[in-house]
Amino acid sequence: MTARAASVVTPQSAALVLFSGGQDSTVCLAYALNTCDRVETVGFDYGQRHGIEMHCRARVRSEIVHRFPDWAPRLGSDHLLDIASFGAIGDTALTSDAEIEMLASGLPSTFVPGRNLVFFVYGAALGYRRNLRVLVGGMCETDYSGYPDCRDATLRALEQAIQLGTEIPFSILTPLMWLTKAETWAFAQELGGDALVDLIIEETHTCYKGERGRRHPWGYGCGTCPACELRAKGFNAWQAAR
Ligand code: ZN
Repeated sequence: MTARAASVVTPQSAALVLFSGGQDSTVCLAYALNTCDRVETVGFDYGQRHGIEMHCRARVRSEIVHRFPDWAPRLGSDHLLDIASFGAIGDTALTSDAEIEMLASGLPSTFVPGRNLVFFVYGAALGYRRNLRVLVGGMCETDYSGYPDCRDATLRALEQAIQLGTEIPFSILTPLMWLTKAETWAFAQELGGDALVDLIIEETHTCYKGERGRRHPWGYGCGTCPACELRAKGFNAWQAAR
């Protein structure tokens, strides 16, 4: 390969990461920065109850630039898409003042129907324009809340629909799909060592209630909502296994 050819960024090596500022999407961002030559991020404002996610997104990105000199040149633009009309349809515990609880459907009230489908379709439209052909998301069906749009089968079908609907060979990568939450911590350690684990603890946000007052060994949050419980449980299992 000539030097010129080596420097050409192929579409396959350019990724768009669905990035919320949470633990999972931060690990996905690290994965993409480790794997691809050019990485951009996209976030969605769909009327969340708390603006903390938006704050954490900016913090995580700037800390990655400061702490990871190998990754910094690969990290490109951030995009924030307003999909408030979608949030208005969902009208669940994340977007209104309803209590977070388990519903008769067996799903938590935080479930926004079809949310990940919408995210990837918007991501593909943006990727089309930005020449980013790899779409990366932190969906997982190992330790999850039963959301049907997190399942691998759903996302494989969506990948095919997006390919057919755009005539572009987009691929959807979900590096966390088969990992437990404990394994996701271990994966972060593998990708970026203690610096990445520390960044995740200090700067990412997972709590459904938007609390950042109390610092636990695994990071900030109320400690009792389903998202905090899952994060804490995974962290403790990872620590116990080290
Ligand atoms: Zn919480």
